[in-house]
Amino acid sequence: MARKSRTIGVEANPPEKVCEDPKCPWDGSLKVRGRVFEGRVVSTKMNHTVVVRRDYNHLVRKYNRYESRKGVVSAHQPPCIDLKPGDKVRAMECRPLSKSKSFVVIERVGSD
Ligand SMILES: [Zn+2]
Repeated sequence: MARKSRTIGVEANPPEKVCEDPKCPWDGSLKVRGRVFEGRVVSTKMNHTVVVRRDYNHLVRKYNRYESRKGVVSAHQPPCIDLKPGDKVRAMECRPLSKSKSFVVIERVGSD
């Protein structure tokens, strides 16, 4: 089965597999909008959910130096994107999918 050509609004490579998940931005009806970020998968223990960690540098103006900070978000994992801990992914904001999920993984960028 091949995917009907669909653009999700940002530049990303569609996954090779196809799924039936209505909450998939590529195959389902989920719309994505808002923030995009790249991060690393920390945990895949939940069903259809991954924990993504984002490391970033924050400028401390008083010392004119950066300190490293991190943020962790839960993101929806569509079945057509296979992920394991350590994978680099791009996640994008969407409507709230559950109490703590309002991001969805749109692309696997690579692994370590
Ligand atoms: Zn899919």
